Amino acid sequence: MRQMPSNSVRSPAASREESARREMVERFVAPRGVDDPRVLAAMREVPRHLFVPEPLRGKAYGDHSLPIGFGQTISQPYVVGIMTSRLAIEPGHKVLEIGTGSGYQTAVLSRLARTVYSLERLDELARRSSALLRQLGCQNVSVKAFDGTYGYPAAAPYDRILVTAGTDEVPEPLLAQLAVGGRLVVPIGPPDRQRIRVVRRRKTDFAQEDGEAVVFVPLVGKFGRAGIPG
Ligand code: SAH
Repeated sequence: MRQMPSNSVRSPAASREESARREMVERFVAPRGVDDPRVLAAMREVPRHLFVPEPLRGKAYGDHSLPIGFGQTISQPYVVGIMTSRLAIEPGHKVLEIGTGSGYQTAVLSRLARTVYSLERLDELARRSSALLRQLGCQNVSVKAFDGTYGYPAAAPYDRILVTAGTDEVPEPLLAQLAVGGRLVVPIGPPDRQRIRVVRRRKTDFAQEDGEAVVFVPLVGKFGRAGIPG
């Protein structure tokens, strides 16, 4: 069957959103050092406005994070771009994400990897984002509701692990579930300011490097922020 040219079936609202996405990537993401074409393409495609609460949809493509309920936030587009490009995901990779939140970052990962497991400690957010991701046809994603600082041993090891909440130290179980040759990206530092840390697992040890300053909501859990019970 021949496919219709996609422009002919697109509503005016959809093409408005598409140009908003293109502008978001061109103004706020690409100029800040995100140059991986696959990451930029994924961010041009994922309908970010659907991942924010209805009253905030008009702000979905701006240069900021936004509240998503339960005291949590969807990250600023540039931060999603930086963290995703630091992961250097290849199409065959199996990825573990801690902190599904709105599911936006998960949707971006799902376009780049073979399989994505995403863990969210708040049931309601896990339910919502899982439903939305299914609706959008992200079939290679599995969202689970529990404390992600334990990781998800059932599907380990992972080629890539992304933590989208801030903590003092990399949770030990996540290091254990990272494949040799794999990479883990996590915001490390005190609650008011972290740096994006990239950890690489080599044959016999781990190498790490700290990058951009960011502010994330806390990673709450057994191996997360000290003193905050899961
Ligand atoms: N990547 C998300 C950002 C969400 S904010 C997005 O694009 O929307 C961070 C999320 O991490 C919050 O939803 C919070 O509930 C979740 N979180 C915090 N600690 C967690 C833990 N131990 N395990 C799983 N999720 C956690």
